Amino acid sequence: MCHYEIINFIRCGHQDKRLTRYCHFARNDPNHQCFSPWQIEREWDHPKIECDKCSDQKLKLRSLANGEDWK
Ligand SMILES: [Zn+2]
Ligand SMILES: [Zn+2]
Repeated sequence: MCHYEIINFIRCGHQDKRLTRYCHFARNDPNHQCFSPWQIEREWDHPKIECDKCSDQKLKLRSLANGEDWK
């Protein structure tokens, strides 16, 4: 089974699941698909930053405010 870590983003209250290690099956699969249950290796809090989605959105908003064009 594949291993994941859970990150709790304290600042925005979101949670992210990240793959830390593929299992044997997923590694051999061209699409890295895994059909066995995954396991959470660890869970930790991130107090300083926001999740990718939130920081991405903020970046976009900021560029819009600056008149930049997002394609
Ligand atoms: Zn797996
Ligand atoms: Zn977030």
